[in-house]
Amino acid sequence: MTDRIVLFGGTFDPVHNGHLIVARSIAEQLELPKVMLVPAAVPPHKDSAHATAQQRLQMLRLGIAGEKLFEICELEISRAGPSYTLETVRQLRRLRGGGVDVSVIIGADMLEDLPIWRRVDELLDEAQIIVALRPPWDRQLEQVLGSLEGPLGRQRAQTLSKGVVTTPLIDISSTEIRRRAREGKSIRFLVPEAVEEFIKNQRVYVG
Ligand code: ATP
Repeated sequence: MTDRIVLFGGTFDPVHNGHLIVARSIAEQLELPKVMLVPAAVPPHKDSAHATAQQRLQMLRLGIAGEKLFEICELEISRAGPSYTLETVRQLRRLRGGGVDVSVIIGADMLEDLPIWRRVDELLDEAQIIVALRPPWDRQLEQVLGSLEGPLGRQRAQTLSKGVVTTPLIDISSTEIRRRAREGKSIRFLVPEAVEEFIKNQRVYVG
């Protein structure tokens, strides 16, 4: 049987229940035994992270503690420089040996950015992209997929549309959590309890 690795990369600043609910839903639907969460060291398509890499890693660990579905891949955190998915895919392939299928989960909001991902053509040749729904982007999905035909080509855009999985629409973002924490508002039910405690005790997003 071919080995399959499913990556879910992100800044996880912090990890939130949207990430976890959506990843679990995908795992259930596609019958995946594992989803590898890959925190980025330096996210290439975003402003820099707010919490430190070690804090983001620690929050991920706390958030998935005791949950067998998830494992954390520290390759990007350990690597110097921007965290390009293609490099991570190749590094994992080298580590696992040949014959491994790699899939990468992204939220629907990331689709329109795909054309500017580093060497995206090679990434799309080497990994299958699984797209999770995310509000409000779910409402423009057809339009965004259509707009990818120009930069990526029709066939690739069609393959991407086949990778869309109907996941629960969870309107939670790390931005909202950081803002709420900064303003002293509750973040309960938005993040796992242990992550909430960590953010409070370490004053991660205050000041
Ligand atoms: P920020 O608000 O700081 O931009 P974020 O909430 O988008 O962060 P990331 O860690 O940047 O979180 O996201 C990692 C991956 O998870 C991305 O592919 C993103 O699209 C996806 N994702 C994040 N939140 C959700 C959500 N609520 N539903 C579906 N996908 C999500």
